[in-house]
Amino acid sequence: MSDGAKNAFYSGLQQNLSTLREQGLFKPERVLASRQGAVVESEDGRTLINMCANNYLGLSGDLETQKAAEAALQKYGYGLSSVRFICGTQTVHKELERKLSEFLGTEDTILYAAAFDANGGVFEPLFDENDAIISDALNHASIIDGIRLCKAARYRYANNDMADLEAQLQAATAAGKRHKVIVTDGAFSMDGTIAQLDKICDLADKYGALTLIDESHASGFMGATGRGTHEHCGVMGRIDIITGTLGKALGGAMGGFTSGRKEVIETLRQKSRPYLFSNTLAPMIAGASLSVLDRISKSTELRDRLHENTAYFRKEIERIGFTIKPGTHPVVPVMLFDAPVAQKFAARMFELGVLLSGFFYPVVPMGQARVRVQLSAAHTREQLDTVLKAFEQAGRELGILKNN
Ligand SMILES: *Cc1c(COP(=O)(O)O)cnc(C)c1O
Repeated sequence: MSDGAKNAFYSGLQQNLSTLREQGLFKPERVLASRQGAVVESEDGRTLINMCANNYLGLSGDLETQKAAEAALQKYGYGLSSVRFICGTQTVHKELERKLSEFLGTEDTILYAAAFDANGGVFEPLFDENDAIISDALNHASIIDGIRLCKAARYRYANNDMADLEAQLQAATAAGKRHKVIVTDGAFSMDGTIAQLDKICDLADKYGALTLIDESHASGFMGATGRGTHEHCGVMGRIDIITGTLGKALGGAMGGFTSGRKEVIETLRQKSRPYLFSNTLAPMIAGASLSVLDRISKSTELRDRLHENTAYFRKEIERIGFTIKPGTHPVVPVMLFDAPVAQKFAARMFELGVLLSGFFYPVVPMGQARVRVQLSAAHTREQLDTVLKAFEQAGRELGILKNN
């Protein structure tokens, strides 16, 4: 490249970044000076109640989790410098895979460095141009990318729309596709909606389709014993493939998994590219994840506290006069509709000591701007009351409360 061509490359990037800033779409990073938790400290020394982490069970900054990681660090060392199939598998990895299978009610499980990798590597080894993938329109970016890496025909159905799902199943059947697989997030992270897995399983049976769910916003806390949305919807044992993360409720460090029938998992071990060509999960994360699974298998205390907090917050925020998307999930979208209002609101809440994130187009549809609250088992009632008071104050200042 001549200097001129190189300069054009860099100035092009600068221009694109300026455009993002002008449009208010630039995402700055908040820098924390403390561990993750219900309360965090920002780098300027301010203390904030944190309402925007995926720390559903409050285990991210938790001492017991940390101690389990430390014990595994002592025993297994820092890392392995190897992919799993060369010399990157330790007993702790096999133990975690067994424990996850038991927890999810499946035959076998394969670990990845992230759920992004699990989704990136699940489709291409299992499906080809003879097959059809029928995917919810709001599925996570990693599912969309994973489907792109695979040669199967793609069918998209409107979010949570069972009539459209059936129409797409009919279209795939009419096209003579060999295997069909319905793919959905178990819980959708922007709306807190839960997929209608009972109806999805019925449709799958009717059309001879497989089912795959991504449980990243569900594993550890949805369902009576926290197994996930398949437990919540009463379809445990009817889902073929489950993907999920260790980086949200289940400890919050990183790591992902795919779980299902033995022959599926064995095929992925042989052929899934993010597994074959990327380093093994650090043993301390595997060790900490084991302790998390132990803890939530023995008691539903954290899960129960999370749902109590969620029910309380959902009830109180509506009483104050805010509009939320109805539901039971700890993701609570507080609807502000207008993008600049959502931005102003989140900024004001920050001044009032509450950390939250505002979302607007293109992350959510036009006119659906919101702040997203995420409850945690770690929140105390007192902290939630402080947050609710701040909501009321900011809402009154901006004139957006329904009752006033
Ligand atoms: C967060 C998330 C992922 C990615 O998880 P990582 O382990 O952080 O890569 C994948 N799918 C869904 C639905 C998610 O919410």
